[in-house]
Amino acid sequence: MSRKKRNQVFTTIEVIDAGAKGKTVAKAPDGRVIFLTNAVPGDIVDIQTFKKRKAFYEGKAINFHTLSEKRTEPKCEHFGTCGGCKWQHMKYEDQLFFKQKEVTNNLTRIGHLELPEITPILGSKEQYFYRNKMEFSFSDSRWLTLEEIQSDRDLGDRNALGFHIPGMWDKILDVKKCHLQADPSNAIRLEVKDFALKNDLLFFNTRNQTGLLRTLMIRTSSTGEIMVLIQFFSDSQEKRELLLDHLKVTFPEITSLQYVINSKGNDTIYDQEVICYHGRDHIFEEMEGLQFKINAKSFYQTNSAQAYELYKIARDFASLSGNEVVYDLYTGTGTIAQFVAKKAKKVIGVEAVPDAILAAKENAARNNIENTEFYVGDMAKVFDQAFLAKHGQPDVIITDPPRDGMHKKVVEQLLAIAAEKIVYVSCNSATQARDLAILNEKYQIVKTQAVDMFPQTHHVENVVLLKLKK
Ligand code: SAH
Repeated sequence: MSRKKRNQVFTTIEVIDAGAKGKTVAKAPDGRVIFLTNAVPGDIVDIQTFKKRKAFYEGKAINFHTLSEKRTEPKCEHFGTCGGCKWQHMKYEDQLFFKQKEVTNNLTRIGHLELPEITPILGSKEQYFYRNKMEFSFSDSRWLTLEEIQSDRDLGDRNALGFHIPGMWDKILDVKKCHLQADPSNAIRLEVKDFALKNDLLFFNTRNQTGLLRTLMIRTSSTGEIMVLIQFFSDSQEKRELLLDHLKVTFPEITSLQYVINSKGNDTIYDQEVICYHGRDHIFEEMEGLQFKINAKSFYQTNSAQAYELYKIARDFASLSGNEVVYDLYTGTGTIAQFVAKKAKKVIGVEAVPDAILAAKENAARNNIENTEFYVGDMAKVFDQAFLAKHGQPDVIITDPPRDGMHKKVVEQLLAIAAEKIVYVSCNSATQARDLAILNEKYQIVKTQAVDMFPQTHHVENVVLLKLKK
């Protein structure tokens, strides 16, 4: 069957839901669900489908009959092209409503779990400019809009410094202003681009693997420090120093100016040497008087203000008295472990990345915390009975796994340990629900609290308190 024939148009359909990876949802007359990318629940639209599966279509609204009350004006000129903020056209209160709904649905439908009364989702005070870290890519062949391609105009400069177009590894959107990271983030990015163009520093070409400039990372912190890291594809000392010196002079507020020379196929810096050109090789983040050292490769929650709220909820749920042995699984650089340490007898953090564990130990020493211990290893392998015999039976386990959730072995281990309380912090309520369904054998959900760390996106964190069933 030709592609055209499979595409269908459905007229005057109401968009009824949002969730599923940021898409919105409507129902086709044949009963199938339609996932849309450009509508808001409450819109009444004509829909053109471009994909058909057994249970659903994917499509796009091509004509709007009624615009939803839930709509608001997107702040960003790049909205709709950039994949970063899929929900900018939805009012914040409605974004929160659909995030809450997604979490509740996942827990009840995937986990088949019985939920206590839900505490309403905690929204973010800042709905824009809340990120402390952004990564931009250079490209010599920027993404063109359909209008640009169809016009006869001279397209001018084709270089870009911005974000990947969703699903297209070699196409970069040139970003004029991003609303996710506070100033001077935009100023630095624009200046880098402008200076590079004026001085013939070549932007990367992904297909041919040529050019000088590859990526730009900007990290800001609540302490006012700024880290800038430029990733070069090739080694040209003269050009490199020309750019870095210019940045140093133009933005004296940069406290950490670093670079990487990476001529590998991919642009991840995690296996690369990071060289400090000016200032320190790290910045600090602060929380309740605790200092966390962040270097170019460190993981730190990207919305610092909401991370504080998230950690407070985790600590409240743990309700420690000072006598407990606490495990902090997937501890990263040990932030949660240190955050709860004052209220515990001992906290043991476990994490797979050796550098993160080094940083955790260093941070704990800097913060004069003496009752934390940190161990490195793959959770499914190290977190076993022998480990517990050595370090002590936990009273409370805090777990904060990556998006995939916990390995089945880790969940089984949690059941075998049967600690009185588990606090499960999750950035993906679908995998959290899957894990909770297994834990349900011995544990009951006492509290569940969603937290919005990423306004304008569909992402949502969820914290669940589990208690051993009597
Ligand atoms: N709790 C931390 C970090 C959470 S992110 C914080 O709030 O900052 C999840 C962490 O899990 C990451 O640091 C990642 O490196 C770690 N991780 C991922 N897979 C792992 C595994 N199999 N074993 C141990 N740690 C793992």
